[in-house]
Amino acid sequence: MSEEIQQKLTRRGVVVHGVVQGVGFRPFVYRLALEEHLAGVISNDTDGVTIEIEGESASIEAFLSRLRSETPPLARIDSVAVRNLAPIGEAGFRIVASEVLGRVSTGIPADAATCADCLRELLDPADRRYRYPFLNCTNCGPRFTITRRIPYDRPQTSMARFTMCAACQAEYDDPANRRFHAQPNACWDCGPQLSLVSADGVDLPAEDLVDAAIALIAGGEILAIKGIGGFHLCVDATNETAVMRLRERKHRYGKPLAVMVRDLDAARGLCEITEDEAALLTTPARPIVLAERRFGSAVAAAVAPDIPWLGLFLPYAPLHHLLFADGRLRALVMTSANLSEEPIAIDNDEARARLSAIADAFLMHNREILQRCDDSVAAIVDGAPQLIRRARGFVPLGVPLPMDAPPLLAVGGHLKNVFALARGRFVYQSQHLGDLENLTGLEFFRESLDHLMRTFEIEPAAVVHDLHPGYLSTEWAKQWAAERGLPAIAVQHHHAHVAACMAEHGVLSPTIGISLDGTGYGTDGRIWGGEVLITRLDGEDPGNFERFAHLDYVPMPGGDAAVREPWRMALGHLHHAGFDIRSPEILNLLDANASDVRVLSRMMERGINAPLTSSCGRLFDAVAAVVLGRAEVDYDAQAAIELEGIDVHEPYETGESDASAYKLEFMAGNWPVREPARISASPLWRTLVRDLSANVPKPRIAAHFHAAVARAFVHATIEARKATGIGQVALSGGCMHNRRLARLLRVGFEAQGFQVFEHCAVSPGDGGLSYGQAMVAADLLRRKS
Ligand SMILES: [Zn+2]
Ligand SMILES: [Zn+2]
Repeated sequence: MSEEIQQKLTRRGVVVHGVVQGVGFRPFVYRLALEEHLAGVISNDTDGVTIEIEGESASIEAFLSRLRSETPPLARIDSVAVRNLAPIGEAGFRIVASEVLGRVSTGIPADAATCADCLRELLDPADRRYRYPFLNCTNCGPRFTITRRIPYDRPQTSMARFTMCAACQAEYDDPANRRFHAQPNACWDCGPQLSLVSADGVDLPAEDLVDAAIALIAGGEILAIKGIGGFHLCVDATNETAVMRLRERKHRYGKPLAVMVRDLDAARGLCEITEDEAALLTTPARPIVLAERRFGSAVAAAVAPDIPWLGLFLPYAPLHHLLFADGRLRALVMTSANLSEEPIAIDNDEARARLSAIADAFLMHNREILQRCDDSVAAIVDGAPQLIRRARGFVPLGVPLPMDAPPLLAVGGHLKNVFALARGRFVYQSQHLGDLENLTGLEFFRESLDHLMRTFEIEPAAVVHDLHPGYLSTEWAKQWAAERGLPAIAVQHHHAHVAACMAEHGVLSPTIGISLDGTGYGTDGRIWGGEVLITRLDGEDPGNFERFAHLDYVPMPGGDAAVREPWRMALGHLHHAGFDIRSPEILNLLDANASDVRVLSRMMERGINAPLTSSCGRLFDAVAAVVLGRAEVDYDAQAAIELEGIDVHEPYETGESDASAYKLEFMAGNWPVREPARISASPLWRTLVRDLSANVPKPRIAAHFHAAVARAFVHATIEARKATGIGQVALSGGCMHNRRLARLLRVGFEAQGFQVFEHCAVSPGDGGLSYGQAMVAADLLRRKS
């Protein structure tokens, strides 16, 4: 090559980090290179994607700019590093095979819903994949749930056993094809197949199995359907009898069931869907979205009793689209196939063994699910998306951390558990694992941990757990750390909540954290949950947080029983507020039995089996018990959710109003020397009981109550600002799922000039705990070193 030509050429080495494997990134780069008339090579490796590119410098600049601006839908670029290389006069652009070398830092993609191109093929009688239930391409399809380890290549997935036919292989090998290196690529001839089996294990023959399954569902039967991250139990959502039968067989009576509908139009037929909710429903993650029901919709009342919302989601696997294709089915209950809080079933034999008493038939397939992954749940809260359950479609994408973390394992809490692995500037949260109360839960935890440690090749150098000594996760973490000689770090529950919210927004400066939730073990051994914490990450003070104020302690008569039976919590609160709980007025109010109340009353007076709590969730429970007569709950936070539900149409009170009679009292403490301030609900109870006996409409009472709680925490935070000069506030804890409360708090804080941070990428509830634990531990370890 002449020197003249070589001078005109430029060659650059480009390393891209992020989610760049299995998401159509290489064909995208290939196309860009061709369009910009550039030569070079691209390879996937364990460190990301490496590109060498050669040509005129203006073209290279255009290429680099388009690399960022035209990124494929499922890809996420975290960083691009460019260096100069000597031109070699290369011609053409090549894609070379994956290498498995060194440490893995490339993100593994999350599962993604069927894309528009694939959907068109699925429903096109002329296409070779017409009605093929497992079609996919680089822009869509299963990823995390079928992957054993990375790099994400077919032999490392459960597609390894299916050998591609010549037609599929040709697509897979063609850089210009949508299916170039689409690892789960398959068709009728070479890929996974369906089977339809009765509850007693007999194959149900049919010319078209999907058609036969539709007929069973339309006939009111319960089907177990194998999906992407596990089995669903499916019934016709418009059939009251079928839904009731599912509830009876599953022993779940109150918990709302998710409903899948054909498309956005069908969703709009059942619920009022805002623009934001429509956007959330149609993201590639396809979460279940909580939306307000339309009055008189076709959905059976038993689907979501006593609440004004429905959990709706759209089809995300080709099989789901096929179920709706002929229009016979309009809305399907699709609920995780498990018994109460057990992990979701994924294996065909396991599903048959566990679900044969529930399902009438099984619609299954022979592509193995390697990772259980429930559907994610999200909602628009206070105008922004909030994840309630982070699972399919989001896991295992990393959530950024605002400081470097050594390799860490944070095990989370107890209920709705999610653990996290951290390294460098990312935290990889596991899928929602459910409650860690028994061995089945612990088994799922271990299984997922092994998988995630393997996929990301993270060997923890420290283990982080909740402060609660009795949690199964704490016990497990301490033992695991001891066996490996690793430090085990305990982080207080509400501190972790607040840290999670701060970390999400990259906030490291001192912040006032409002942490409102059900249960968390406090540094004084009591049950916290209505907390105003001064949180200093990255501060000089190694104390991490100080408790500035909390809801006043009230007794929980019967301990954990008071969580399942909110009427006990109401007794605790009324007793604390100075009511004579044995009086006919209170017995009548709670529809309670005099002798039961006598027993509980004695427990509280003597302080026996009546632990003290500052929990905000329990305050909501108590109010729901009194206002709604919700004596017992069937699922977590049911009473509070119903209380939020009855006042959806009440106006928001953001200033002073007739509701001002509803108030909580701020009782200054001796902070920071001796004791935190207390926020007492006693005055509120007096107004509330008076209004109830005066027959004030219950929705109005509920609205006043929400407003009073928000005002009380804003007031306490103003006091905290006076004491500390801190003007920013982070809102966290499971009560932040409550839209009314979240909005009232945000508006209230902003009116007082606070800067407000709320959760978005991780759950404000216990699902976000492990992320916050990782943040606190990273901060501690950084200061120690
Ligand atoms: Zn596709
Ligand atoms: Zn094929």
